[in-house]
Amino acid sequence: MAEPLPPTRPRIPGSGLAKGLAVTLRTMARKTVTEQYPDAQPELPPRTRGVIGLFEENCTVCMLCARECPDWCIYIDSHKETVPPAAPGGRERSRNVLDRFAIDFALCMYCGICIEVCPFDALFWSPEFEYAETDIHELTHERDKLREWMWTVPAPPALDPAAEEPKELAAARKTAEKLATTEAEQAEQTAQAEKSDPTKPTHPTDPTKPTHPTDPTKPTDPTKPTKRAEPQEGDS
Ligand code: SF4
Ligand code: SF4
Repeated sequence: MAEPLPPTRPRIPGSGLAKGLAVTLRTMARKTVTEQYPDAQPELPPRTRGVIGLFEENCTVCMLCARECPDWCIYIDSHKETVPPAAPGGRERSRNVLDRFAIDFALCMYCGICIEVCPFDALFWSPEFEYAETDIHELTHERDKLREWMWTVPAPPALDPAAEEPKELAAARKTAEKLATTEAEQAEQTAQAEKSDPTKPTHPTDPTKPTHPTDPTKPTDPTKPTKRAEPQEGDS
């Protein structure tokens, strides 16, 4: 058997109107959240996904971004070039040269996978979003335009003071310290060797070099009298 419904309270006439007015008054008293775009630019969070910038100097044409893009909206063309060996007798190497790098933002779903997978830090998010076009073809940004977006990429946030030192910096610091230690040891060894060997001149000079160098190619002037030794007392 169905349970009886709870008794409903009798409606006071005009209560709905009073409720509506209360909501209106509450909203009027609240701070407005409307932004006056485009007269006032919105304050976007630093990690906003607006558009993708390409730093093509870092791109090695590994094609990882194009392969991982779920929308297949990254277009890359390249060719191979042979690089001569760095030293005589070495082997020639080949390297990829970028011919085309384009992203179709009409297809892009701003997932950020391409930026995540790029192993060489060649792609970055920019918060710029004002690139609407009336022609959909214009939404395919070629490498020049992608490079221009790099100017709008915000600087990376400062490292946490307690964060681990980046691997590259740690390696460079260790190499510099090692070099400085080796140089100091060598200088100390030289100083000790000079101290223990008194026959060795303190400031070794190049024996092949004359002490007062004269230009041997310069002929001496025969008409010029040579300086004679002053006669000493007792000389006859
Ligand atoms: S953000 Fe996503 S969809 Fe857009 S280009 Fe990168 S991988 Fe493709
Ligand atoms: S993953 Fe990075 S380095 Fe590789 S092709 Fe894409 S942008 Fe260039």
